[in-house]
Amino acid sequence: MSEPEHCPGVESESAGKSSACEGCPNQGACSSGSLRAGGGEDLDLYEIARKLSSVKHILIVMSGKGGVGKSTVASQLARYIAHASPEANVGLLDVDICGPSIPKAMGVEAEEIFTSASGWSPIFVEDNLAVMSCGFLLTSPDDAVIWRGPKKNGIIKQFLRDVDWSTGAGAGDQGLDYLIIDTPPGTSDEHISLVSYLKHVTGLRGAILVTTPQEVAQADVRKQVDFCGRVKLPIIGVVENMAVFTCPKCHQDSYIFKRSTATDSGKLLGGEKVKLLGRIPLDPLIGKSVDEGVSLFEAVEEKEGGGDKTANQTSAKTIAAFKEVWENVQAVIEPK
Ligand code: ADP
Repeated sequence: MSEPEHCPGVESESAGKSSACEGCPNQGACSSGSLRAGGGEDLDLYEIARKLSSVKHILIVMSGKGGVGKSTVASQLARYIAHASPEANVGLLDVDICGPSIPKAMGVEAEEIFTSASGWSPIFVEDNLAVMSCGFLLTSPDDAVIWRGPKKNGIIKQFLRDVDWSTGAGAGDQGLDYLIIDTPPGTSDEHISLVSYLKHVTGLRGAILVTTPQEVAQADVRKQVDFCGRVKLPIIGVVENMAVFTCPKCHQDSYIFKRSTATDSGKLLGGEKVKLLGRIPLDPLIGKSVDEGVSLFEAVEEKEGGGDKTANQTSAKTIAAFKEVWENVQAVIEPK
């Protein structure tokens, strides 16, 4: 989507107020004057808002610390949506600069980014699933460790501004229905930058927080809730990962980590209600799919074809969990 035909321009006195501005996603930001160079804000924000105006829903995936399965949830949720809704166009953007694991999880590690006049082209892993990661920019996996704050923030900004999500097999000119952004663990400067760069983007819906059931992980989620409150980022809900393990032999459920009563009551966060979107089981097939970069949902279908009954039952729970998470997210972002 581009600016209106008779766009007066962000610097004009009539920015956001002229009849040509009616219906433009940037109308509010333009009329407030906040996009003017003299208004103290970066003109890149205008460009980011323009570039992402064709994305209907943007979801930011965050976790209190590393290793809880944030990238797993982000990548498998993107795969689930693309698999369950073939008519939807899905994008996955990885801004976890110091540990980009999305290229591996999506099986596109060896790919290179191509540029065209309209920006960087994402890599399509399915007709309706496009991926972009800062991992594609690293010449060596150790590169990012030495990148400092301003450089990291510059890269995040560039990703938001310069990726052309409208190109590729399935996307056509329609743009994306859903863009999932995988962020670094914790709450860092990068999160503050990300949220501030997205502040005029109309499709920004909020954060999905990923945690594991242990108290120590949940304490980190409380910090995340506090962070989201401070940067005014709505919270869509919490996903509890590695919640239960179902033995493939006896089908008995084991709670490997102490089961949290807090999430059961929906009061994870010191009395503050945050919606529990779902509980993802600890499933060896998830680990395998992510490590091998293949779709969990296709892997399960293959197994079903192969008639491995015990593994099917475990993975059926995993798929049901992703379905539940997605339905709960949709209830918040696209209420019927
Ligand atoms: P984070 O992004 O929070 O650092 P990852 O998504 O990279 O964590 O996950 C860490 C490891 O745990 C990966 O090897 C991943 O395959 C594995 N993993 C994550 N969630 C699950 C799960 N529900 N069941 C089995 N393995 C999982």
